[in-house]
Amino acid sequence: MKEFEVIRRYFTQQVVKRKDVHLGIGDDCALVTPGERQHIAVTTDTLVAGVHFPMETSARAIGHKSIAVNLSDLAAMGAEPSWISLAITLPEIDEHWIDEFCKGVFELCEFYNVQLIGGDTTQGPLSITVTAQGQIPFEKHISRSGAKAGDWLYVTGEIGGAALALQHIQGKVNVAPKYQEEIQQRLDFPKARVLAGQALREYATSAIDLSDGLVADLAHICEASNVGANIVLDNLPISAALADTVGIENAYDLALNGGDDYELLFSVSEDNKVGMETALANTGNKITCVGQLNGSDKITTTLNNMPVNICVQNYEHFSNQTTDK
Ligand code: ADP
Ligand code: MG
Repeated sequence: MKEFEVIRRYFTQQVVKRKDVHLGIGDDCALVTPGERQHIAVTTDTLVAGVHFPMETSARAIGHKSIAVNLSDLAAMGAEPSWISLAITLPEIDEHWIDEFCKGVFELCEFYNVQLIGGDTTQGPLSITVTAQGQIPFEKHISRSGAKAGDWLYVTGEIGGAALALQHIQGKVNVAPKYQEEIQQRLDFPKARVLAGQALREYATSAIDLSDGLVADLAHICEASNVGANIVLDNLPISAALADTVGIENAYDLALNGGDDYELLFSVSEDNKVGMETALANTGNKITCVGQLNGSDKITTTLNNMPVNICVQNYEHFSNQTTDK
């Protein structure tokens, strides 16, 4: 089977047909028509086999994840996802694999009414690059730089689960059979918090999606906004699977430093707390207040209202604050 036959048989078989796609797959470029007074939010993420997902990951999970990580970036800006392009490098034409991969891609695209409008198909070691584009009304985007000292810090969902799954696959921990399905899902089928991100446009002072871990990603907000933060460990949304498997101390470590959760981390002012909590409840997303921003240049942690020094040593001082003055 030739490359163009793969494109015709698989990548053009999507159900979603958006009115704002003037020309989709098939020409040298796609043509889309953005809504009035909308910014186009554009993001790209690459997944390389063996680097960004274990080699034994199912094709459907790889398809899902390659879309989810991009929709997660759009969500963190408050954008509504619209169009994606897919550049895929395949070691061989394995029709069953491609079929399953497309299922993973299209399931998520259908859920959020996102249309695949183009891409590139090449041969080589397995790698997938997706560019996602979304729309966001002028003045409504959420950036990393708008947080203020005193704002409250929240996360969606639960954290640390994807890192636990990875450790299980690598044989570093042994997850009890009753939790295995749940934690595998967390790694393979991350949720992109798309509706939460759009609801946050009206409330959040900053937001970021958690790809590298809570502390590392919080550090990006702190640097961009020139604030420090305290994380209340007691409040971290840790699953029973995580706490039972590694014990609470290690669970804090994975929740603080584990990657791949693709939850949203965001800040909200005291005045907007109640409105935000109601708006997010309406989207069906669980949220948890995990701390507060302050005027320091550090990320600290407390447990039982006492300062503790768990796993945040690398983020003691932000470089930009010494050079700013
Ligand atoms: P060109 O050589 O002009 O770049 P291609 O032969 O690579 O065009 O692709 C033909 C059409 O198929 C283009 O519209 C391209 O966007 C689309 N396409 C190629 N690969 C994919 C893919 N993996 N997913 C979606 N569309 C694709
Ligand atoms: Mg091409």
